[in-house]
Amino acid sequence: MAARSNNSICLGILAHVDAGKTTTAEALLYRTGAIRSLGRVDRGDAFLDTDRQEKDRGITIFSKQAVFDVAREDGSPLRVFLLDTPGHMDFSAEMERTLSILDYAILVISAQGGIQAHTETLWELLGRYRVPTFLWINKTDIARMSREELLADLRAHFGDGCVDFSPEDGELPAWTREEIASLDERALEEYLAGGETLSDGTVRRMIRRRFLFPVRFGSALKLDGIDGLLSDIARYTAPKEYPEPFAARVFKITRDERGERLTWLKITGGSLRVRETVSCGTKDGETVREKVTQLRVYSGARFESVEEAEAGTVVSAFGLSETYAGQGLGRDRGGPAPLLEPVMTYRVSLPGGTDVRAAFPKLAQLAEEDPLLRMEWDEELREIRVRIMGDVQIEVLERMIAERFGWDVRIDTGRIAYKETIAEPVLGAGHFEPLRHYAEVHLLLEPLPRGSGVVIESAAEHDALAVNWQRLILTNLAEKEHRGVLVGAPLTDVKITLIAGRAHEKHTEGGDFRQASRRAVRQALCKARNVLLEPFYAFTLEIPSNEVSRAAADLKTMSCAFDPPEALGGSFVITGRGPAVLLQDYRRTLLAYTKGKGRLSCRFDGHYPCHNTAEVVEASGYEPDRDVANPADSVFCSHGAGITVKWDKADAFMHVDSGFRLRENADETEEIEVVSRPKTRQRSLDFDERELEAIMEREFGPIRRPRYSSLPYDPTALKPPKSEPVPVTRKDHLIVDGYNVIYAWAELAEIAKESLSAARERLIDVLSNYAGFRGCDLVLVFDGYRVPGNAGEKSESGGIRIVYTKEGESADAYIEKLTREIGRSEHVRVATSDGLIQLTCLRTGVMRMSSRELEYEVRTALEQLRTIRERTHDTRMMLGDIAPEFMDVLK
Ligand code: GDP
Repeated sequence: MAARSNNSICLGILAHVDAGKTTTAEALLYRTGAIRSLGRVDRGDAFLDTDRQEKDRGITIFSKQAVFDVAREDGSPLRVFLLDTPGHMDFSAEMERTLSILDYAILVISAQGGIQAHTETLWELLGRYRVPTFLWINKTDIARMSREELLADLRAHFGDGCVDFSPEDGELPAWTREEIASLDERALEEYLAGGETLSDGTVRRMIRRRFLFPVRFGSALKLDGIDGLLSDIARYTAPKEYPEPFAARVFKITRDERGERLTWLKITGGSLRVRETVSCGTKDGETVREKVTQLRVYSGARFESVEEAEAGTVVSAFGLSETYAGQGLGRDRGGPAPLLEPVMTYRVSLPGGTDVRAAFPKLAQLAEEDPLLRMEWDEELREIRVRIMGDVQIEVLERMIAERFGWDVRIDTGRIAYKETIAEPVLGAGHFEPLRHYAEVHLLLEPLPRGSGVVIESAAEHDALAVNWQRLILTNLAEKEHRGVLVGAPLTDVKITLIAGRAHEKHTEGGDFRQASRRAVRQALCKARNVLLEPFYAFTLEIPSNEVSRAAADLKTMSCAFDPPEALGGSFVITGRGPAVLLQDYRRTLLAYTKGKGRLSCRFDGHYPCHNTAEVVEASGYEPDRDVANPADSVFCSHGAGITVKWDKADAFMHVDSGFRLRENADETEEIEVVSRPKTRQRSLDFDERELEAIMEREFGPIRRPRYSSLPYDPTALKPPKSEPVPVTRKDHLIVDGYNVIYAWAELAEIAKESLSAARERLIDVLSNYAGFRGCDLVLVFDGYRVPGNAGEKSESGGIRIVYTKEGESADAYIEKLTREIGRSEHVRVATSDGLIQLTCLRTGVMRMSSRELEYEVRTALEQLRTIRERTHDTRMMLGDIAPEFMDVLK
């Protein structure tokens, strides 16, 4: 499978509102000759502000695209797809999806306003998506701070990788080269060996790996400094290589002026031609294959129709009706679930006389354009609710509905998006046996770490319950969003294991298991110790020193957990986490008492136990017994008729004994444990996950969310409840791309700045603990490709194999060799975020995971290890061996 390279890059432009993003984009287009005259945002004729609402408001709502060409050093053209992204916080979901397709980004910062809270959120997002970034400090014509001060501020916030690229005589000055070299061991070697020079290739590599962030100063409005920014882009970016088979990522769905549906794609492998068919999900159980009828390359509101789009380019396709934003087509696996989740749901009030139920499907159409815009029908309140980010989005949505459907709707009454989970394992059983029906289901529900979602498995015996029935039950369990019993909010962070069940030879019909399994979940929840979860934000608060004690007192009142304030310049910074509902209104209070000097930046951090559960439960008035859509009681057959037995009495009537027992506790404070499990407990179904996925896809359409769908960005914030380790049944092989992981894990990258070998040692320590606990075969590979005279080395340490590849042997070549030796199987995984190595994995057919995913897995495993040791009072554990950067989760 050959790789293809092309001559284009996908460059995003991001900024806090008003920093001058649109003006900068216009300036780039003008200086490269892509547009002949400059528009002005203020006059409403900017090239990229095409949407009417944007023109009215003067802000960018929908991400736009423009195309320009620049000449590279060798004279060859580089085509740049410039993607403008929404700057307003309310539209961040769309921005995140755009981020997932970017090769590079320009972060625009106003020299007048400096770094804003939202700029920091953008910086974090760019880090999460690992987008190499150029920093453009705009509005220097009206700056309040000097360049030195601005640069110092940048470094204080974003680290020493921010280096001023302003040239002297067209070249980087000596001190800039030295600064760059000091950021990386390999660059330093080259710098010292080569007479204090650095090759463009090295600078490019450092930018690509996000060690280095070139900074340029200027004024977009005055076209000052723009050429310098353009020359950096031409000189220091490199187009990616893409695999040969077709792959594409959908990042946006829109409609054109005639209402026709447009799917915006970045081609991430092979190419796409007009009239080609593409499979894009399922509908009514069938795979949908649709023909592309037209391909357009947009630049502002103008477009050019093309016959074929190559890997690396961005096109909009007509003819596809089942695509959705974030979806992967062909070999592409789709983007990660957005980090910024809406935390409120709002009621949609339709004009009097409108049939609300009939209107719902139409409104739900809008959700296909933005999967985060979740429309829900609340059966109990008989109203439509929508989950959105905030005030500006409400206005935009109201206008969109008016234009599209002619309805004058009002969106009001914001409500917090709660979730529910359980604190301890619990068993549940459901029986459904009206006349000539029969099904019984037994389940074990166990708490999972925060952010895990609902995981469904089977551990039931095949002989007692046929595989077909087991599949059906798992599917039934997966198809439903289960509701908790406290306020009826969606259930999350729970593992549901099917442990036993029974069917009747003649009387069982498919629907009976649906009834029994849902009753079993509800019965378990009625018995469980339930926990109400509310959305949390992780926040950074910057506060003038005279207001620190006021801020700390406020944060305590808002039930926030935070670290001691740290001095930063003339002010203090407090970081912590707290309930989103309280923090979202705090910005206004803060601005008032700090006279505009305080800054609060928040990001969604997942759902955590609610700060005022009793109050919320009381106010909700939810009564599980009256929730007819979610019954907990069972139906048994008595003298030929079905009778309903209350959930708390039903266990005595069940026909099957699952063999599972929970330790009964008189003392409420002691935790419940599964004390006895039948011997066969670890048996899993003999169909693989892919088959299950296929069944689910057929039954319920494409699976859109990965298993760790709402995984919080910062895994150190995870405080998982106690749970059993996942049993390892077969020997798993894990190959880890050492340097890539070091630079992807913030803590290790920090150590690497001081000493690369210390970072390596730490990684080895952590991974040996992990491998020992998981019982997997772990090979840690460090790339020694460019180290002259290096003969390669293999060693064993702490039960893992460590390999330094030889001079001339790249890590990806080695990994390819190794995977061939171990053999292709789903039990071989390679952890790396390096594109080339991921390509190798594609080629050799082994599983890939990103360095970030590995970090999450390792942290979760170490946490479980700690829990088990604590439970068994085992003090022998290797805590001392665990690197300090992981100790925070182990405290
Ligand atoms: P966006 O919201 O980030 O897209 O910012 P815009 O490009 O819409 O610019 C916001 C405002 O700043 C507009 O009034 C621009 O004319 C102004 N502006 C943009 N760049 C500059 C600059 O370099 N200097 C000055 N003085 N004003 C600028």
